[in-house]
Amino acid sequence: MYRFFVEEGQIEQGEAVITGGDVNHIRNVLRMRPGDKVMVSDGKERDYCCRLKEIGCDRVIADILEEKPAETELPARLYLFQGLPKSDKMELIIQKAVELGVYQVIPVVTRRAVVKLDEKKEEAKVRRWNKIAESAAKQSGRSVIPQVTVVMSFKEALTFAGGFEVKVIPFEHARGMDGTRQEFGRIGPGMDVGIFIGPEGGFEDEEIALAASAGVRAVSLGRRILRTETAGLMVMSVIGYLLETR
Ligand code: SAM
Repeated sequence: MYRFFVEEGQIEQGEAVITGGDVNHIRNVLRMRPGDKVMVSDGKERDYCCRLKEIGCDRVIADILEEKPAETELPARLYLFQGLPKSDKMELIIQKAVELGVYQVIPVVTRRAVVKLDEKKEEAKVRRWNKIAESAAKQSGRSVIPQVTVVMSFKEALTFAGGFEVKVIPFEHARGMDGTRQEFGRIGPGMDVGIFIGPEGGFEDEEIALAASAGVRAVSLGRRILRTETAGLMVMSVIGYLLETR
């Protein structure tokens, strides 16, 4: 069943009103007809099974048949703080992280991040990254569209994660998996979890020390060196496996 996202205010009195680019998609790409069923999400972790009623030029009105809590979200909110990678790796990372249940992706400028974005470039990149997040959310049946935030400095990212219950920074020089298992084992429903991944060049020792002073624990992901685009997805996969409820 096709899924569409609306703002909370577009759900009222037993109807869902779909607007924007989705209207053209419903009319001209999917060629849907009144009577067809769709899933609508309001981004607040509520899902609405609906039947199309009116397909207009700039809005589609659907009757709500059933309302239920979102079934596809992880019980904890995972925030991926991704050190800016080279080329278009960020697009792959975002797409896969959304499929794996990420709540938010925060691009981070770290000491060894070689990519430098000026304001204009950053704006365009963040817009594109959010489009990729939306498309991946639709494809994977998410009930929310994870947001890709503006680019943060490492210090801003640590402050942003200040109140999170669990915060890890995978570091290839960390030894042993006990600490990793311990941290991941602490994650529970309703928690905010910060995952800090370095760019291709990794983190500097000073960054690891700064993270430690902010309560972010350095953990090992094993004895092999993972690429930046692999490391975050591995962490998301492991945490997803631990948290998935069925
Ligand atoms: N300094 C690394 C090297 O020697 O090639 C490069 C960093 S790695 C490509 C990118 C990021 O992935 C690291 O900053 C870290 O966050 C994570 N990472 C990769 N392998 C890891 C491992 N075995 N344990 C913990 N983190 C790892």
